[in-house]
Amino acid sequence: MAIALSGGTLVTSVDPPKLQAADVLVEGSRVAGVGPPLASDSAPRLDCSGCLIVPGNVCAHTHLYSTLARGMPYRLSPPTNFVQILQRVWWRLDRALDEESIRASALVGGLEALLAGTTTLVDHHASPFAIDGSLDVVADALEEVGIRSSVCYEVSDRDGPERAAAGIDENRRFLRTNVRQLVRGMVGAHASFTLSDDTLAGCVEAAREAGAGIHIHVAEDLADQADSQARFAKPVVDRLAEAGAVTHRTLLAHCVHVHPSEIGRILDLEPTVAHNARSNMHNAVGRAPVEALGDRVALGTDGIGADMFAESQAAFLRAREDGTGEPALATLRRLAQGAAFAGRAFDEPALGRIEPGAPADLVVLDYQPPAPLAAQGLAGHWLFALGSRHVRDVLVAGEVVVRDRRTTRVDQEKVPADAAGAAERLWERTDAVGPHPFEPATGS
Ligand SMILES: [Zn+2]
Repeated sequence: MAIALSGGTLVTSVDPPKLQAADVLVEGSRVAGVGPPLASDSAPRLDCSGCLIVPGNVCAHTHLYSTLARGMPYRLSPPTNFVQILQRVWWRLDRALDEESIRASALVGGLEALLAGTTTLVDHHASPFAIDGSLDVVADALEEVGIRSSVCYEVSDRDGPERAAAGIDENRRFLRTNVRQLVRGMVGAHASFTLSDDTLAGCVEAAREAGAGIHIHVAEDLADQADSQARFAKPVVDRLAEAGAVTHRTLLAHCVHVHPSEIGRILDLEPTVAHNARSNMHNAVGRAPVEALGDRVALGTDGIGADMFAESQAAFLRAREDGTGEPALATLRRLAQGAAFAGRAFDEPALGRIEPGAPADLVVLDYQPPAPLAAQGLAGHWLFALGSRHVRDVLVAGEVVVRDRRTTRVDQEKVPADAAGAAERLWERTDAVGPHPFEPATGS
């Protein structure tokens, strides 16, 4: 199967920005050639005249199940801090998840991601009353939509030791059995403050066995640091690193409240840090020290959709607001780091670039620049203008999965309609669940 994308302007690299007016020939799942009319006679053409073709965006941290929480009614007293947000919203919702709602949220979340130009999702899944097999449900749905993904089950002691053990088993089972071309696995863990030493050790062992990384929330709120100090007399990153949980394959979500010494450890051990600017603003947990974390930082949405144009713009503006002097290019670098992380997960070092041999994860943007567009100005166009509304076509691993703003593999009307039905039933079940009793060592 081959296809030639002709007549467009390519962003062959996001960091450093490189532009080239050229055709792209895709053969099978890869870019076969880039240059002036490369289209072989036999390859069908996709006319991209006047379009910008960019590497697919990567969302480095999300929770697909939260897609069904959009607009969910809330009847308890309003949470006043981060731990209460978990106790009163997310830890009630995840207890109410069943197979139907897990599948519906993954299908609709994957569909929305593709339509926004995101070709890889890194998901962190929790469903403590539907653990066994849940990662297959998520992975099957994402593969059905045609999006690339990394999945994991969120291990936690908050629902008791049996569910913690079942979570480890689910990660282990999935990592052993998954053979899907577009899906990889990690070992998920919630956060230091809901993990005993034994459970954390179990996660590390499962990750080592499979050669996989651990995907965990880190110091999203001060409560995580306070708990680690109270129980272990050390900061969170030190606890995790000393347990063997931090390697170059590890994904640390948030890292809002990390000390300079922990930042040094992160830079030494080279995990990826998923920065979730909009989620951090929404939960009022503070702003992550992304400047100090340097090129370890990728961008995620933490469940606020999967539109990485919107996420990158918010991340940029939030840093600017603090007077950090954030250069526009720094945000593009973080987007590129997401692709580099996905590239490591898939053993595809060229993922995120448009060059011969790279996986053909491509997004065609119908964008008519109102000012000259050159490499040095790409970040300006990206951060002040580009958006999911410009996404016309999307290829993942060489397959056209969105053409003329329509998904080719799943029904673009039926999937959201089914999800809305599943959401309604999920909301009813959630309504019957009380606030979660788990407290960090230092209380909420
Ligand atoms: Zn998260």
